[in-house]
Amino acid sequence: MDKAILKCIKCKSQYLDLSQGTCSACGGILLVQYAPEALRDGQNRLLHQREIKGISSFEPVLPDIKKDNWVTLQECNTPYIEGKHVREELGIHSLWMKDETRNPTGSFKDRAIALCVSAALELGVKRVVVASSGNGAASSAAYGARAGIPVTVAVPRGTPAGKVIHAQTCRGSICRIPGKFDKSYEYAKEMAKEPGTMNLTTTFLSPLAVEGYKTMAYEIYMQAGNMPDYVFIPVGAGPVLYGIYKGFEELCMTGRLKTIPRLAAVQSEQCAPIVRAWRTGGKTVGWENPGGIASAIADPLLGYEDNGDLTVKAIKGSGGLGLTVSDEEILAAGKLLAGKEGIFVEPSSAAALAGVMKAKAENLIDSSHDIAVLLTGSGLKDPGKYEERGHK
Ligand SMILES: [Zn+2]
Repeated sequence: MDKAILKCIKCKSQYLDLSQGTCSACGGILLVQYAPEALRDGQNRLLHQREIKGISSFEPVLPDIKKDNWVTLQECNTPYIEGKHVREELGIHSLWMKDETRNPTGSFKDRAIALCVSAALELGVKRVVVASSGNGAASSAAYGARAGIPVTVAVPRGTPAGKVIHAQTCRGSICRIPGKFDKSYEYAKEMAKEPGTMNLTTTFLSPLAVEGYKTMAYEIYMQAGNMPDYVFIPVGAGPVLYGIYKGFEELCMTGRLKTIPRLAAVQSEQCAPIVRAWRTGGKTVGWENPGGIASAIADPLLGYEDNGDLTVKAIKGSGGLGLTVSDEEILAAGKLLAGKEGIFVEPSSAAALAGVMKAKAENLIDSSHDIAVLLTGSGLKDPGKYEERGHK
């Protein structure tokens, strides 16, 4: 692992040890940085590959990991599908769906977790821990099983059963933590202090998670005939949005892209600390009473508000925007997507399309824009939410 370093966004300290979660000097968020020539060369190699087959295909633009240590279930290379019928319904010129539900455990998390578990093998880690609202738990347990590394997951009580059972069946040790996600986050952080333990929590606690997510930007670049003007992304703490931003930024740094597509962060109106900070222009303030059906993005950021500030920076850096949507709007979007395109997503993913619908209604986007929407997780993980609210 030497073509990349970790750099603190606050005090600029640098680290070569990629198991480092946050800056030991100031507690700041760490991001992976590559030498410009390594990035240029890496992109050349990546874009000349015949086929993308799992996270290891992105090795040229990721930190070095030995061939035998890559742990893959052939995640990545998800379809980029035209949303013809929804597009017509909404009166939008062009709508494309990045269908992350096709990943091995049914969500985008597999990109980050496959990379983190591969790094865990490379680093000789004995146990991994993860705090998760569900998708990360299932993914970590699955990849941990594949790698032969024990996995402990901390999930808030009330996490959808499908996700917990998935993790449990893959032999993850489940700790159900009272309270909202921030309590699980603290629990995992404490557990990770044990020697030989690595924290895979896919907030900004794990710089490699952002690297895993940036592969979506590379794929959109490779798959899209026309680059989208906007990418709509459901946002919890924001590493997905930041990862996509970073991927596009790397493509701009080498001159392959002229501009970063505008990134639209969509949150539930019942938990929207990042959109609130984007709107007010101030610092992120944790959200006291998170609620709503979009459990996968209900992250109050209490105690790690700096995650929100970095995400807001990426939204602004792309010239993007923030939007909030209601439970009713989320369900309507999920039903439209399933009913018109045949793609069944969990409420948190439907939030992204609900954001497109809202942006169109409020004239924040116009009908000439090319829109991409990130469909993060399968509806099979949390089908009850659709049932509870009836089949209107
Ligand atoms: Zn620092």
